[in-house]
Amino acid sequence: MSQTALALLQETFGYSQFRPFQEQIIDTLIAGQDALVLMPTGGGKSLCYQIPGVLRQGLGVVISPLIALMEDQVTALCQLGIKAAYLNSTLPPDQQREVLSAIRQGELDLLYLAPERFSQHTTLSLLDDIEIALFAIDEAHCVSQWGHDFREDYLRLSILHERYPHVPRVALTATADERTRIEICQQLSLSNAKQFVTGFDRPNIQYRVTEKNQVKQQLLKLLREEHAGDSGIVYCLSRKKVDDVANWLNLQGFSALPYHAGLPPDERAHNQSRFIQEEGIIIVATIAFGMGIDKPDVRFVAHMDLPKSLEAYYQETGRAGRDGLPATAWMAYGIQDVITLRSMLDSSQGNNDFKISERRKLDAMLGYCEISSCRREALLHYFGDLFEAPCNNCDTCLEPVETWDATEAAQKALSCVYRTGQRFGVGHVLQVLLGRDTDKIRQFGHQQLSTYGIGKDIKEPQWRSVFRQLVARGYLEVDHGGYGSLLLTEKARPILRGDEKCLLRKDRIPQAAQTKRKSFVASDSEQPLWDALRSVRANLAKQQGVPPYVIFHDATLMEMVESKPTDKNAFASISGVGQAKLERYATDFIDAIANHLNNSELSSAITKSTSTTVNQSESDTLELLNTGCSVKDIAAQRGLAESTIFGHCEKLIARGEADLNQVVELVRDEIDMISDALISVITDDNQIPLAPVFEHFNQQFSYETLRCVRAHLKLQMAEIT
Ligand code: ADP
Ligand code: ZN
Repeated sequence: MSQTALALLQETFGYSQFRPFQEQIIDTLIAGQDALVLMPTGGGKSLCYQIPGVLRQGLGVVISPLIALMEDQVTALCQLGIKAAYLNSTLPPDQQREVLSAIRQGELDLLYLAPERFSQHTTLSLLDDIEIALFAIDEAHCVSQWGHDFREDYLRLSILHERYPHVPRVALTATADERTRIEICQQLSLSNAKQFVTGFDRPNIQYRVTEKNQVKQQLLKLLREEHAGDSGIVYCLSRKKVDDVANWLNLQGFSALPYHAGLPPDERAHNQSRFIQEEGIIIVATIAFGMGIDKPDVRFVAHMDLPKSLEAYYQETGRAGRDGLPATAWMAYGIQDVITLRSMLDSSQGNNDFKISERRKLDAMLGYCEISSCRREALLHYFGDLFEAPCNNCDTCLEPVETWDATEAAQKALSCVYRTGQRFGVGHVLQVLLGRDTDKIRQFGHQQLSTYGIGKDIKEPQWRSVFRQLVARGYLEVDHGGYGSLLLTEKARPILRGDEKCLLRKDRIPQAAQTKRKSFVASDSEQPLWDALRSVRANLAKQQGVPPYVIFHDATLMEMVESKPTDKNAFASISGVGQAKLERYATDFIDAIANHLNNSELSSAITKSTSTTVNQSESDTLELLNTGCSVKDIAAQRGLAESTIFGHCEKLIARGEADLNQVVELVRDEIDMISDALISVITDDNQIPLAPVFEHFNQQFSYETLRCVRAHLKLQMAEIT
């Protein structure tokens, strides 16, 4: 059996081998047995039902909670040449009729349905009349009433077992906990199902937590240095902050869109769809964003504020890197986060038990932030997975944290809280410790206190770190009235008495270089090919109105950059290239690769030959430019690629020998606009990356155009300085 499954994997999906468990799950279903699959996001769950759905006689029925997900999957399957369709309320009546007739004719391999649609009488009677290969229940945790995504219609799915006892069923989810698993089995009568539980590690995600210190600048540094041109999600706690950060990122030259419940529904939908359809878009969102986003190439998830629990954090960061390529989960947090979240929790509705449980969750979150050992180990341990540190892909592994003996500092901080009457927030207590002269201090006579000015030996940021850690570790708590006042806890006593030592983390000031991932491609020389392939992909996607990743994933493009296939055979061996895509797309990509190879051969030939010939070829181009020829004309006349001529022009412009206007057809305003965007992305080491600008203008200007404007800009800048 699995031979044909393997053949399908290789020929249709274009992947060479199965991932752990996929084959066993597929075999189970093909043999007509039920299965329960718990796999992390990006683990490759879809293949587990798609392949047996195609291989088994009859229609594979997939029940999926979200319309956007359904459409996405069906689009991707059709690209692979698999006959798939969906039925939901968004489909126009004539298309519905087409799908229904295809079902009756037995022409479809896979059908996606929403659960509410499934339980309708007409759907059931339709399914009664045809042969069914299997039922797949995606996002099966939606049956759990404990879970965060409970959907009433999922409860009705127990009918599957009663009505179609001989059809194998598979329930799939990425939600880990035991209680949910048991509930799925009960609600869906899956007690005889074979269970497949993989670990929950997401090895390609790099976890990093940094101390908040001008958080926008910190975010900017991350985006510019490591994620230029990448898609990502930035989470903020409030709507106001979402709007603010999105605006600000746009001013910095990124394409950022806001997403929160306060926006009109159509604007929200529009922003979400741009995020999915286009490349390089950053969504700035409250937690309202994410459910139902299946975008595989989200390269980073940044938290500007602390999430409420590790469950939320893991789910949100889990949206990064579904395609298995390196991705960053970055978070900045500070004392104010702790205070805000604690106060929100205390003043929230809900009974005491609920508050206690939420408080525990927040404490676990804080513990994670302040940990000095491997973050992945802590995370997985929290979810009941064993993992042996070091992971070598989290900040504490890559850059071990130092601790310091903070006993004396902690004593000073705690007694200052005590002496000021446990009625003030961090800000005021800090001023007293530092011996500052403020109105508030005079008003309360706090300059008389014995703790006034005893903290001058330590700088303010370090004091903030001390307070943050004292709160996070439970030596101090935030008052329950929501004013942010600090109170001592029982735990503080032994420290104050000197019976216990207090070791705290040393905050790292700047991020060290070793955690940085500059760009996707290994070397600068590969960047042009990477950009060229992305632009081929973007064009194909635009023509068909599908997201670029549906054409090929980033991983597939990267493999093309590495192996540079120039014929169909070599192209077919790239992971992610199946039969259908080979036929449709090979030529476009092979052309781009061949073009790139020609250019680089040419340019290396040019560099090797004497400098006079370099100048000769360039001056030939210049001569033609000066007679009013366009780049296209020159390329045709000289029998060279346009990109080669553009290369000459870039150098000619940079040396001030040719004028920008001779090369590109841009009006003054456009040149200014592009120049401004280029200036806004200049890095610390004076590089001007093009990808973010390319994306910023929605790919309106070609890379060649941008290169020439950049050359012009650099010349101007050199003239000024
Ligand atoms: P999940 O539903 O578990 O989050 P998906 O089914 O969307 O994950 O798969 C995640 C990614 O991994 C997809 O891009 C998919 O094409 C890819 N993938 C799945 N199985 C394999 C495989 N055997 N080899 C290579 N890539 C795979
Ligand atoms: Zn680690």
